Amino acid sequence: MEHRKHPLTSPVPGTERQIDSFHYGPADAERHLYIQGALHADELPGMLVAWTLKQRLAELEAQGQLACRVTLVPVANPVGLDQQLMDTPLGRYDFESLTNFNRRYANVADEIADGLDAALNDDIAHNRDVIRDRFEAALDAALGKTGPTTTLESMRLTLQRLACRADFVLDLHCDFDAVEHLYTTPAAWPVFEPLARYFGAKANMLATDSGGQSFDECFTLVWERLQQTFGDRFPLDYGCQSVTLELRGQRDVDHDLAAHDAQAIIDWLRHLGLVAGEAPPLPGLPYPATELAAMDFLHAPIGGLLVFHATPGMTVEAGQLIAEIIDPISDRVEPVRAPQAGMFYARSQRRMATAGMIVADIAGHRSHRSGYLLAP
Ligand SMILES: [Zn+2]
Repeated sequence: MEHRKHPLTSPVPGTERQIDSFHYGPADAERHLYIQGALHADELPGMLVAWTLKQRLAELEAQGQLACRVTLVPVANPVGLDQQLMDTPLGRYDFESLTNFNRRYANVADEIADGLDAALNDDIAHNRDVIRDRFEAALDAALGKTGPTTTLESMRLTLQRLACRADFVLDLHCDFDAVEHLYTTPAAWPVFEPLARYFGAKANMLATDSGGQSFDECFTLVWERLQQTFGDRFPLDYGCQSVTLELRGQRDVDHDLAAHDAQAIIDWLRHLGLVAGEAPPLPGLPYPATELAAMDFLHAPIGGLLVFHATPGMTVEAGQLIAEIIDPISDRVEPVRAPQAGMFYARSQRRMATAGMIVADIAGHRSHRSGYLLAP
């Protein structure tokens, strides 16, 4: 195991933050896995899974069973982790810029594509290496000698730089109050479907570009774009496949759950042949994959007390009552119903709804959304 520290741009004198990365397995391994936890710093189940994985990966490495290189970042967002306001952790948005910590990652596709055809040939492995070198160089150039101006920007680029050569990127998040679910691309779904089975994902939502330049998509969109531009002339694959694993809800910081999730990741690595030993038989997939464009955000029609009539993990029918919003002054009671059949997988933790807020998420089957597909 190797522990590296990556200093971040300091926002004010007298403060210093860093990203800590832990590296396991042979440095010259052919395949590389990147895992990070708690990019949204108020989503801590991923941090516990990462810590659990530290022990498991150290054991596997000592036993010579690790056939891939693993980069692990248990605390992906030290900036957000330090944002507490009157006993409430607020790790989703950067206080300074009010931006979501999982949006607007650098898009370096133009820099990679510029003059790329002169460097490609008919060898797919060569092309993958050339693109990874250029990806790394573009991020190094953005990081520069003096570093980016803001802490947020240096944090984003540092995480991207750590992950940009990985074959697989696992970004460990959670929702507010939720069951196991994940987001990935249609192209990556065959790779991650076995992981979804071991993990027990009850909703699997697929989109190539959900519009937010989120961490997972800042890798896959580069390869997607290069395939579109050069794929008819040169053999190209996806040099990086990524998945955002949603480890239930914010309160699900629990040793048994973390042990389950860490084991799911190791079983999946065994299934891919990246950890020695036989993988356990694949469990069934709890719920089929659906398009992210078919997912519904259910909004509160008025402000008021939010009382749920359904719990995450339930399959629901069109028109089924999910919650009521109660105005205790006017006695108005407004139902919130499922707009279509699907898997009710996540809900708000708040119980005083403000008018228009998202109260529940349902993975449906009828695609009807386009453009920006994510929550704020
Ligand atoms: Zn998140």
